[in-house]
Amino acid sequence: MLIAESEASISRQPSPCPGVSTWISILFLSLALFAASACLAPASSPAADTPAKGASSLEGPSGDPLNLATYFTDEEIAGWKQYRMHKVWVHLIGLGAVLVFYLVLLTTGLNRALKRAAERASARLYASPALHRAGRRYPRLAGTVKIPERLFGGRQWLEVLLYCLLFLFLLRLFFFPQHFYSTYWYDLQQGLSNYSLRLWLVDYLKGLCLSTLLFSLMVFGIYGLMARVGRLWWVLLWAGVSVAIFAYVVIAPYGQYVYSHFRPLESGELRDRLEALAAKAGLPLEDILVVDASRRTKKVNAYLSGTGPSERIVLYDTLLDAFTPREITMILAHELAHWKEPHKKRSYAVFSLTVFCLLALAAFILRRGVRFRRLHYSSPADVAGLPVLFLTFFVAFQLLRPVNLYWKRAREIEADRRSLEFVCDPEAFISTQVKLARINHADVEPNPLLVFFFSSHPPFLERVETALEADCRETDVPHSPAGRGGKGPRP
Ligand SMILES: [Zn+2]
Repeated sequence: MLIAESEASISRQPSPCPGVSTWISILFLSLALFAASACLAPASSPAADTPAKGASSLEGPSGDPLNLATYFTDEEIAGWKQYRMHKVWVHLIGLGAVLVFYLVLLTTGLNRALKRAAERASARLYASPALHRAGRRYPRLAGTVKIPERLFGGRQWLEVLLYCLLFLFLLRLFFFPQHFYSTYWYDLQQGLSNYSLRLWLVDYLKGLCLSTLLFSLMVFGIYGLMARVGRLWWVLLWAGVSVAIFAYVVIAPYGQYVYSHFRPLESGELRDRLEALAAKAGLPLEDILVVDASRRTKKVNAYLSGTGPSERIVLYDTLLDAFTPREITMILAHELAHWKEPHKKRSYAVFSLTVFCLLALAAFILRRGVRFRRLHYSSPADVAGLPVLFLTFFVAFQLLRPVNLYWKRAREIEADRRSLEFVCDPEAFISTQVKLARINHADVEPNPLLVFFFSSHPPFLERVETALEADCRETDVPHSPAGRGGKGPRP
């Protein structure tokens, strides 16, 4: 019966077809989604993919190129494995904590308390004489409030907003220790971080403000859709997300300006090399930028981001110190290979289909969940069902994770191969991988299960093997005087 009641309560309001407010809501949500993705994305991205410190030169391995002992000591391998395993455990504990958070929230009455607090605060604000006076004094402000009122059909918009803020506050509070440990403390103890506590706090507060704003807009958009179109909310949301992903690609690079400073790469041999490579690959580069990553980390990275007017290559300043121009050229070749990926349309179709299935599942679970009184929400459009919605997404993402990682690893292997077609320089490729592993403390002999569940890139030796298999007979080999030359590994 509750299902029937709840569904009726949703379908009371919907108009026969989406009206202007609905499309405004979709636009609103789409903007929030891509802006959230852009601003909350870490300053790293695809990147040099696996980074390190530079002990190796371009002389190539003197022993068996497929033997780890050729590149690393036993102590290094064991130490990095320990570092990575610790990270895996922290990650797993974090996943468990997410489940505990949602289950406690949903089953102990805490969620109901949040909802009631939002309702009471909303009623008080609407009855507040001071706000009524402000509305009379500033009629434009009062007119602005009418927009969400029309979208939600009343003051429910304020309840949604206040509930969202309370939910976020609890979430941040609960996960602060884990976040502090994994993003600041542990890498600092391991000597991999340059973060000062002050800078970490500034970054944390920036992220907090942005995530609160954008997360609130997103929730506001989702529940606005539910209020306007009832059961079909998820279809319109899917359409919005599918369009928003394009805008996200354009805007993504700008979000990083919130955290970092960028400067153009100085003129010189390295810049000439990178520009020549980009031209050879057919990439119309606007600029090559250097980001001040050394304020936060000792790790290295490089990435290609944006599209059209926002397209640019970004190098970590740490990369310039530790790698030779020849190695950096090889890293860029890898990024260009991603840019030239032939299956972008198919990737987009898979992404869109996945989002469609996830939203359909979430809508279904949200409707069925109403039956369970302990979950304390009365209908799918009741914002108290938000934790059920997010818990569904969370579980689905975790289940899809190995599939996603498998697909990513396949793309990385392909990018490695294609990078060697752009710049057939296996010596530089291998010495780059060695440095990346060393600087990033990579697990260079990972357990296959760890690769399956956690790794977005192929293991070290697999990448070395790709370099050894490169056929340079028909490509331009950059016999650069810039590198520290020498003969590299050949099959
Ligand atoms: Zn890559």
